[in-house]
Amino acid sequence: MGLPIICLIGRPNVGKSTLFNRLSHSRQALVSDFAGLTRDRQYAKVLLNDDTQTFTTIIDTGGFTNKVNLVDSGIQDQILSALEESDVIYFILNSRDGVISLDLEIASHLRRLKKNIILVCNKAEGLNPTLTTEFFELGLGKPILISAEHGQGIDNLINTTLPLLPKVTVNEEVVEGITIAVLGKPNVGKSTLINHILREKRVIAIDLPGTTRDSIYIPFERKGQQYTLIDTAGIRRKNSTHEKIEIFSIIKTINALERAHVVILVLDAQTGVTKQDASLLGMILDKDKALLIVINKWDGLDDYQKQEVKRKLEVKLSFISYTSVHYISALHGSGVDKLFTPINQSYQDACKQHSTSILNKILDKANHGHQPPLVKGRRLKIKYVNQTNIFPLTLAFHGNHLQNVPNAYERYLKKFFINSLKLTNIPIKIEYKSGN
Ligand code: GDP
Ligand code: GDP
Repeated sequence: MGLPIICLIGRPNVGKSTLFNRLSHSRQALVSDFAGLTRDRQYAKVLLNDDTQTFTTIIDTGGFTNKVNLVDSGIQDQILSALEESDVIYFILNSRDGVISLDLEIASHLRRLKKNIILVCNKAEGLNPTLTTEFFELGLGKPILISAEHGQGIDNLINTTLPLLPKVTVNEEVVEGITIAVLGKPNVGKSTLINHILREKRVIAIDLPGTTRDSIYIPFERKGQQYTLIDTAGIRRKNSTHEKIEIFSIIKTINALERAHVVILVLDAQTGVTKQDASLLGMILDKDKALLIVINKWDGLDDYQKQEVKRKLEVKLSFISYTSVHYISALHGSGVDKLFTPINQSYQDACKQHSTSILNKILDKANHGHQPPLVKGRRLKIKYVNQTNIFPLTLAFHGNHLQNVPNAYERYLKKFFINSLKLTNIPIKIEYKSGN
């Protein structure tokens, strides 16, 4: 299940994010749109080889840490778990600096993992290759010289990587009906929620050939509708005698997100929105999935605390225009059944094909309500809009100079279309088709 994983690791400033962008061909700004939410691109689905249609997920572990932390506290749990679950690790170094002590520290972690590791010496443009012999001393094989910035050596890097990737066998038939991923940090109550949903139902969980990065897929039926729950916590694992401490797994989350139609993000009423929640939320928003936010353990609070939690959440989540918030107690089951109305509705909404004429009537109204802005002295002109995809619902806007649409106007358009089409819990993805 899931695509092969390549992880990028290295100390700050060696060029991880430059290589990540080079491989994922993304020049997207890494700036955060929303206060307090990390929206750095942390992972991307990348077509590594066109002929064999080899796709991989590339993870920039640098996106999961801040630079001070990596130096101060060594490799964090999150990064370590991503490394453990990856198929190939690119250990990036700066060819011009030689090996420094932090590189040695990372190398000693990596050697213990017994993984396929490729030493990638970056910033090697114009460099005499014999100067890089000291990298052999790391004991991690022959270094590959690249320049991420200038695109040199990338083909060589990819050709070295391809034979190391496992063959992926996709087991599509296990996933049926509406696929729901239940995500959240450890101990928020994911397993309790899943157990409640499945109570009295005879289900056979499908534990796919067990690497730690696979989730459990549980098909079930409710009121004549087929669903598959993606359980990232692993109820079966918890019931076994070999209970292991759950480390929040980025890779499990990514794979579950790829497969899900609808995501339930479970938060703990008693802790509020933590950094880990915010980072998960960032990953979900990037994938444009239908989203329900569930505040669990609502039973443990008094009325005053409930008011406080609601007030704080309203502020923290106000930037997401398309989600709904549900207050539940997975332990007692209160509020759980009600989740199925938005789950079903959001699935149906994400399947719908909207006619071009209706979309253009909405566009007229949107233009009327708020004229497209002037950018560099020219008025942006959106001539028409049509739908180009479902899951996520994707609208293509056609016109002139649309590459310059400001973020604020794009947000306005999204919100206007979401409200006008009366969409439940699903985002709209926007594409621009610009004349010039
Ligand atoms: P990260 O902290 O490891 O993600 O590093 P970045 O990708 O942010 O790069 C750090 C700096 O190195 C930036 O100023 C990049 O422009 C520069 N850089 C990245 N790749 C190369 C390269 O191949 N050659 C040179 N000369 N500079 C590079
Ligand atoms: P997971 O790691 O996200 O799967 O979390 P679990 O389902 O294992 O729950 C972690 C702990 O929180 C357990 O001790 C649960 O009994 C408790 N818990 C789960 N849901 C609730 C709830 O709605 N209210 C209260 N008070 N405790 C809960």
